[in-house]
Amino acid sequence: MKHLLLAALFLCSCSVICQTDNITSQLYDTYENYKEGSIGKRRIKRADIQPLIDNITANDKFKVQTVGKSIGGKKLSLISIGSGETNVFLWSQMHGDEPTATQAIFDILNFFDSADFKKEKEAILANLTIHFLPMLNPDGAELFQRRNLLGIDINRDALRLQSPESKTLKRVRDSLNADFGFNLHDQSTYYNAERTEKPATISYLAPAYNYEKDINETRGNAMKIIVFMNDILQKYAPGQVGRYNDDFEPRAFGDNIQKWGTSTILIESGGYPNDIEKQEIRKLNYTSILSAIYTIAKKSYETIAIEKYEEIPENDRKLFDLKITGASYNLMGNTYVLDLGINQIEVDYPDHNSFWYSSRILDQGDLSTYYGYETLDATGYTIKQAKVYPRTLNSFEEVKALNFNDILKQGFGYVRLSTFPAKRINSPFPVHLIGAKYNVPELNLSPGINPTFFLEKNGVTEYAVINGFLVNLKKTDINVPNSMIFR
Ligand SMILES: [Zn+2]
Repeated sequence: MKHLLLAALFLCSCSVICQTDNITSQLYDTYENYKEGSIGKRRIKRADIQPLIDNITANDKFKVQTVGKSIGGKKLSLISIGSGETNVFLWSQMHGDEPTATQAIFDILNFFDSADFKKEKEAILANLTIHFLPMLNPDGAELFQRRNLLGIDINRDALRLQSPESKTLKRVRDSLNADFGFNLHDQSTYYNAERTEKPATISYLAPAYNYEKDINETRGNAMKIIVFMNDILQKYAPGQVGRYNDDFEPRAFGDNIQKWGTSTILIESGGYPNDIEKQEIRKLNYTSILSAIYTIAKKSYETIAIEKYEEIPENDRKLFDLKITGASYNLMGNTYVLDLGINQIEVDYPDHNSFWYSSRILDQGDLSTYYGYETLDATGYTIKQAKVYPRTLNSFEEVKALNFNDILKQGFGYVRLSTFPAKRINSPFPVHLIGAKYNVPELNLSPGINPTFFLEKNGVTEYAVINGFLVNLKKTDINVPNSMIFR
């Protein structure tokens, strides 16, 4: 520990970061003590957070108020803690399928409920009153969809205020006249930090409050907090921070709340390699938001240079789940070289509690300006059609008994089945299942199709792509979460 502190003293170039560097790394390192274990997947619903809110309601440390209801009648709860003069307001999940910060809020509440970090918490709670409004769009969360039950984007309803969720957000903001606002969202995992292969794991914006994009003290303070949070994230996710375009959107909440005098910080949780349920990103939310709260309480952000905000790379959207480069493709007697950009697209089961994949080719051609979470250099490989296994099988059990390594190595990507369980939506195997009369169309690569084919070199099939997932046939592990059913 001692040598770490010494290293921090000598290495830190920024005094503000130095003051909080220690607490930040302690927050990161002790995170598991506060993580709310009951909400560990993205598809969380209002009923999942009600027991947590009940516990908090029974806890003297917190004040809980029902501040509104959604169109569907679900409660909107405001949880407050602290007695300081500066009001900090955090709201999450106004888009129903953006739950990462909702989870982080309950981690932060566990932190405040604990007996640890006594000195830091006293400083925070004496100087700040912190208000949390988690899951502003519970109806959208129920369906794991962006919009609310009126079918509108709440984030375009800040002026017209047609939705009760929007009215609640405006009323709470006004009643608190909050000094700082954290507008908490998720963004597509396909965003990257501009001209790099790094995903934008977190993106920030200090929204503009006018078309001129002026910087007054309110917006300037938001920029300073963002610079502070970016410095923290660079330590845990180097290069994985993006900055949103700050064009003024007159209908959006962030832009208006900035205009109404609350220093507004938009945080968008994006993608992180091999973090499908975004639990590492949740931890980064926890660490950086709590650190920001601490710096607001200590007012140590004030000396940060606003100019550093512009140095954060801009957000771009140039990532695919799988990028294959330089593959040879035969079409009408000629051979062409193609890159393929493939996304593993989630489709919800009817209960919206979990999902399966229906992958698609998003783009093809020269994709040299794009990146992939996973990339394969397929130079010298030829794309081959996936074949149908010659024997028709009669049950899932028979399919299960197949040796999939062998089947894939022989270039079979489809297995014909005489009957299917009625409600079965997809294939749990690393091969597609087809009905008795289904004809597999000839492979015709084009954006929109399901990516299923093989890559062959010198007559040997070395890779399979099944439902957009790459399988290295020299290895025994097959990571294809599901395939499709074509009846
Ligand atoms: Zn959003």
